Amino acid sequence: MTHFSGHFSGHSDGHPAGHPGPGAAGPGSAGYGHHADGMPSSSELRLVAWETTRNCNLSCVHCRASATCGPYTGELDTQASFRLLDQIAEVGRPIVILTGGEPLLREDIFEITRYGTRLGLRMVMAPNGTLVTPEVATGMKESGIQRISVSIDGVTAEQHDRFRGVDGAFAGAMNGIDAAKQAGLEFQINTTITRLNRDQIPDILTFAEEIGAVALHIFLLVPTGRGKYIIDQAISAQEYEDTLNWFYDRKKQTPLQLKATCAPHYYRILRQRARGEGEKVTFQTHGLDAVTRGCLGGTGFCFVSHRGVVQPCGFLDLDCGNVTQSSFADIWRDSEIFNKLRNADNYDGKCGICQYRKVCGGCRARAYEATGDYLAEEPLCSYDPRQG
Ligand code: SF4
Ligand code: SF4
Repeated sequence: MTHFSGHFSGHSDGHPAGHPGPGAAGPGSAGYGHHADGMPSSSELRLVAWETTRNCNLSCVHCRASATCGPYTGELDTQASFRLLDQIAEVGRPIVILTGGEPLLREDIFEITRYGTRLGLRMVMAPNGTLVTPEVATGMKESGIQRISVSIDGVTAEQHDRFRGVDGAFAGAMNGIDAAKQAGLEFQINTTITRLNRDQIPDILTFAEEIGAVALHIFLLVPTGRGKYIIDQAISAQEYEDTLNWFYDRKKQTPLQLKATCAPHYYRILRQRARGEGEKVTFQTHGLDAVTRGCLGGTGFCFVSHRGVVQPCGFLDLDCGNVTQSSFADIWRDSEIFNKLRNADNYDGKCGICQYRKVCGGCRARAYEATGDYLAEEPLCSYDPRQG
């Protein structure tokens, strides 16, 4: 699929679909509660990405779900969807990212949105943009969608479409953004960074500012789903490091919310840089970045698949329970996998001895893809905790 989500045009292509995406760090985000040391409580649910359907009208090269047009069967029906939202609301008042596939292919998507809105959940959506007509944008707004995320991976149609592997993806995303703007709907841009577009990130930031986005979330490619086939496009640990340092510098200069999503070592770099500049990292100096952590999978965030399987994130394909058999609240509280992820002392390799493990934690999905063990060390980090 094309779009943005995860967090890309919203879906499985990686962002919102798979991880912390739209509005993840926005002011007013639900559920921040902190321990005395300023870090978030280890199991406070702040974000749920729900793959409302796996059906999609696009077929992007790096799609997490490897989604095609479908049809995929077994998705939660309307009543089961309401039950899921009820159970999520039992745990807290997180942001709920309606993702896919393409969430707008569900006929009951606005009914679902209204239901969640009534429960006090902050409902956001990750469409790919191609189906967001002015009428649809108005329907989103009226049903309570607070923000949409759209994936833009290059600032020209040629670059973006090549990245997505879908002709017309850029035009579709831009049409959707125009319709959202007319309806008064906030939108954010999600960008997946690879070798192909790493050099264009400054242009993408300028572009996002110019078109009126409220946020730019960058995602580092996680090689799962269709992304596996373009693993050679993944940037190296050093390029990753350089990109996140650039990001740290730019954050101070743009009015946009800039968020490095699923780039856990940003939170290590932030502390290293602040220390080098003689600054203490507090909410006053660094805002929400000071009180959140890198990988939220299983600690503040989870993913619910179209069939109701709860996972730490869309890129970490581990079955922690199914909401058609157990209550979401029980899964969230009692899953052994979630509980292991919540204690950074369980991590292995250099992540296990790293002084930044509680603020970073490494990407558990990349560790899992590389080794088969989700507690193993993050393969794409150049930091050596033994040398400090
Ligand atoms: S494991 Fe964590 S950092 Fe990696 S993709 Fe999932 S939520 Fe993001
Ligand atoms: S070693 Fe692991 S915990 Fe430490 S900064 Fe790197 S990825 Fe993060």
